Formats: sequence, structure tokens, C-alpha cells
Amino acid sequence: VFCLDRKIKNLIMNYLNEEQVRRNISSKKRIVIKVGTSSLTYVNGKPNLRFFNSLACQIMDLQNRGYEVVLVSSGAIAIGMPLLGFEIKPNNLPQKQACAAVGQGTLMHLYERFFHEYGGKVAQLLLTKGDALNPKRYLHASTTLDALLALGAVPIVNENDAVSADEIKVGDNDTLSAVVASICDADLLIILSDIDGLYDKNPSLHLDAKFISYVPEFSRAFLTMAGDAGTARGTGGMATKLKAAEICVRSGIDMIIANSHLPDVLMNLIDGEPIGTLFLAENVHPQMKKRKIIIGSTIKGKLYIDAGCKNAIVSNGSSLLPAGIVKVEGDFQEGDSVSVFYENEEIARGITYYDSQDIQLICGCHTEKLTAVLGYEKTYDTVIHRNNLMVIK
Ligand code: ADP
Repeated sequence: VFCLDRKIKNLIMNYLNEEQVRRNISSKKRIVIKVGTSSLTYVNGKPNLRFFNSLACQIMDLQNRGYEVVLVSSGAIAIGMPLLGFEIKPNNLPQKQACAAVGQGTLMHLYERFFHEYGGKVAQLLLTKGDALNPKRYLHASTTLDALLALGAVPIVNENDAVSADEIKVGDNDTLSAVVASICDADLLIILSDIDGLYDKNPSLHLDAKFISYVPEFSRAFLTMAGDAGTARGTGGMATKLKAAEICVRSGIDMIIANSHLPDVLMNLIDGEPIGTLFLAENVHPQMKKRKIIIGSTIKGKLYIDAGCKNAIVSNGSSLLPAGIVKVEGDFQEGDSVSVFYENEEIARGITYYDSQDIQLICGCHTEKLTAVLGYEKTYDTVIHRNNLMVIK
């Protein structure tokens, strides 16, 4: 194991060692697997059929061994491009969305054929950020995934690129895969890429980059190691994979980044082979798992609270009530993610039930006065319910 500095090395000593953790991987039940465009397609955008074949075979074999697998697949835009006569990725959004719409059908057709060959059924799920952050849609997405897995299907998830404008997009499939892992309460996320795992710096630019096989405690210091995608077809590079790692480990889900082109990579990972980079999940109370998802979303505004409110949130795990809010910043809607500040320190993040204009009206107000101040029947007593609130230590 190579580590950044002694501090991280010392931390490792206090955690389960890599071998123990890897040995435990076979006992996971629900696994989300993400594959990137650079694994699924050749440089000319044509599908890598041998890879599709091997992926379908391995996933069906995992299912035959009793695992539940969800696949998050990129590739729709790259596959759609040559079909619509594009040699390079178009810059303008409608054309990109047209490629996604054409490519998504072809992508699913390919999956259907290969999975069918191994006795599998596939299901298409196209998600947007709203599905993850709107509590009602979150619940629907989660029950649909449960139903599909119970019926033995392999859900294949992608961002709904054809209709998503930037503000409703998760943005990249690495982050989406972590969100999906969180939605379906997975035990493990495996991100398959064109690289062996995480290096201490971008290995396509630095020959002396060193490989990191085990990350027992995720720290934000790792984010500095990430460079962009190495190829024009890749999208997020290592940065989005590390963002996914942060969401996973904070949601209590182990995550592995591994090279998609290693033979039998999935089977070998499950059998505990020391392949790829393994990020160890934090010990998270089951109740806490889902709300950690908030960490991956874009923060739309800030709520400043008083000392009593800070104490209630941090020490007692309370919800955020209007009475404790002293100031609002930003222009946001109900369902957006906001940051909670005490003086200059961010102490929590959460999903707000009220928009910024309403909070301007009700900040400092006690619960019984809310309806009168708002001028309509109050929808909630809390601005952020504790189930949607994540305290940042
Ligand atoms: P995918 O299409 O599989 O999602 P990407 O091409 O987006 O993959 O991202 C993987 C690429 O990220 C690698 O091939 C590598 O060039 C680049 N990269 C940047 N920084 C790092 C790093 N610290 N460790 C490993 N790879 C890195």
C-alpha cells in the first residue's frame, strides 16, 4: 500500500487491513457496477463487442451465484455519434441529446442481446438528479429497483441525457453510480474504467505516479490527486470517481475502482483478489445511509443559524426549525440542497422544504406563527427535517 504521508499511514494501522476487507467482499449481496464509455467503445465510437459479452457473462454468473447486480452504463452519446454522422462529440446540447437518444436505444439493444445469451433479463432505468433528491421520486426509484432485483432482472441505469438540462443532471455517471448505490442500499460499488485504479497523480501525465490499492479512510486530500479523463471519450476522469468514493464511503458503502479489461475482473474482485483500489466504507448507522446522498449534490444556498439551533442539530440530532435561522443567502427552491452555517463554519447540509423567499419570511419565527407569516397553510414545521440533514463533523 502506498500512502500520501505518515498521517494516512498511521490511520491505516487502526483499520481493518486490506486482506481482511477484501476477503469479506464475497459476503456482499447487492452490487452496483459502473462501466465507462472508454471501456464500452473503441476510439471510433463503435461498441467493443467482446467487452459487452464478457460483462454480460460475468454479471449473469454473479447472479447465478446469488448476487443482485445493478449496472450503471455510460456510452449512449458515444454510440449515437457515428449513427448520426458525428466524428467528434458535438458541443451543442441539443445535438448531444440527439446522440444520447439514438445511442441509448442501440446500447440497450446490445445489452439485451448479450444478456439474453446468458439467460438474463435487462431493464432500462433513466434517472435525473430530481429522482435522487425529491423524497417521493427517490422512494419510487428505490422501490422499482427492489422490484426488478426481486424479479431477477438486471437494471441498467443511465442519466436521462436526452431530456436533462444541466440543472437537473447528476452530471456524470460516476456520481450517478454512487447515488444509485445509495438509492438501492447496495453493499458495494465497482467502477470499471480504463485504468487500474487510483494513482497519487495522473499516470497518463506522470511516469512516477504510484498506485494506491487501499483507502481505509477517505479524506478530502485524495481529491487533489485527481486529473481529468485521459481520453476524449472518457468524461469525468478520476475527479468524479473520487467524488463517487466520497458519497459511497460516507453512505456506508465500500467502493472499488478497477480496470475493466482485466480478464474476469468482476469474479476475481468478488473472490477477494487484490485488484484495483478499494475504498473502505465508514461505519454508518443504517438510518444515516440514505441521507448522506446529499453530499453529492450542488449546494444552492446558505442558511445561517444561531447558537441554540447549532447545539440542537449537532448535539441532539434535531431538525432545523425556522426559529433558529438568522439569515438566508442564495435563491433556491423547495427540494434543493443547502448548506447550514454557524458564523463562518459550515456545520451541516440538507434538503430544504421551503424556498429561499419563504425562509426570508419565516426565519426566526416560532412554529405556531408559520401559517400566519407565510399567508398560506404551512406545509412543514421544519425547514430541514433531520432525515434530510447531514451534520458535517
Ligand atoms: P471512464 O470513461 O472509464 O469513466 P475516464 O477516462 O473518465 O474513465 O477516467 C479515467 C482516466 O482518468 C484515466 O485513464 C487517467 O488518464 C485519468 N486520471 C487522472 N488522474 C488520475 C489518477 N490520480 N489516478 C488514475 N487515473 C487518473
